[in-house]
Amino acid sequence: MLSYRHAFHAGNHADVLKHFVVTQLIQHLCQKDAPFWYIDTHAGAGRYALDSGYASKLKEYQGGIGRLWQRDDLPAPLAAYVDLVRRMNPDGELRNYPGSPWIAHALLREQDHLKLFELHSSDSQLLGQQFRSAGRRVQVQPVDGYGGLKALLPPAPRRALVLIDPAYEDKQEYRKVVEVLQDALHRFATGTYALWYPQLARHEARQLPEKLKALPLRNWLHVSLSIASADGGATSMPGTPGTTGTPGMIGSGMFIINPPWTLAATLEEVMPCLVALLGQDATAGYRLEQGETKPGATQPPTA
Ligand code: SAM
Repeated sequence: MLSYRHAFHAGNHADVLKHFVVTQLIQHLCQKDAPFWYIDTHAGAGRYALDSGYASKLKEYQGGIGRLWQRDDLPAPLAAYVDLVRRMNPDGELRNYPGSPWIAHALLREQDHLKLFELHSSDSQLLGQQFRSAGRRVQVQPVDGYGGLKALLPPAPRRALVLIDPAYEDKQEYRKVVEVLQDALHRFATGTYALWYPQLARHEARQLPEKLKALPLRNWLHVSLSIASADGGATSMPGTPGTTGTPGMIGSGMFIINPPWTLAATLEEVMPCLVALLGQDATAGYRLEQGETKPGATQPPTA
């Protein structure tokens, strides 16, 4: 039984980090004419109203995109992501927020395909409605995204970005994502994979990056954004503007396998700005690390 609805959290600090990184990954893939697939194993509803419904209850976006929305001094790569959000709000009021499928669809070209999986019946319906007239380039499937991913790999064009963005409602999910990535790398080693995870006190969340680094990876990059101390995050009230929103979540991370070689430098430029704008207290900060397996090495070195 799925109880998580992403609408409650749309546009929060974690969405900002995730969607900024996804924008970067897609823009890089678009630099070559060759087609690619965008595969979203946990697609959500695709877009979210911020001024009504679930998002308006907790108002988490006020501590996320709301803090970037009106700035005209953002680093160019971050401004490109904010411009996508502005495209969805042409009258200048922040009323709508794009989910990962909407962002991908806005950036992909005619030759590229979107493969979207969403298991929650209400959200998969909303997602399907959104792309009803998008043609055969966009496939929405109301099935388990892990099984769906397995069936798609290796992708026909031999180029793909896979976003794995679970809600981690069950602690088994931390083990599951590692197993799924291991299998996916076996089927399609050269794909770009981006996994989102929450920073929580729970053991499984803290251990996840190390478990991922132990996979047979050639190149990886790990970035995390902490917006508050564990104390502040654990006690913040959901929905109180200016707090972390989700109880206990003090930030989030993205683990990227086979990242573009330019991404680390872009993140070095942008992350201090995200810390300054989204940080809730003096403990806010970011971490960026990467690794590359040298020929003949059995394990990736940690940076
Ligand atoms: N990727 C979306 C975005 O960035 O806009 C947000 C996704 S949200 C964090 C996670 C979604 O995964 C929820 O909508 C949930 O219903 C869905 N979900 C949970 N388990 C799933 C599964 N096994 N397969 C596909 N979707 C699943």
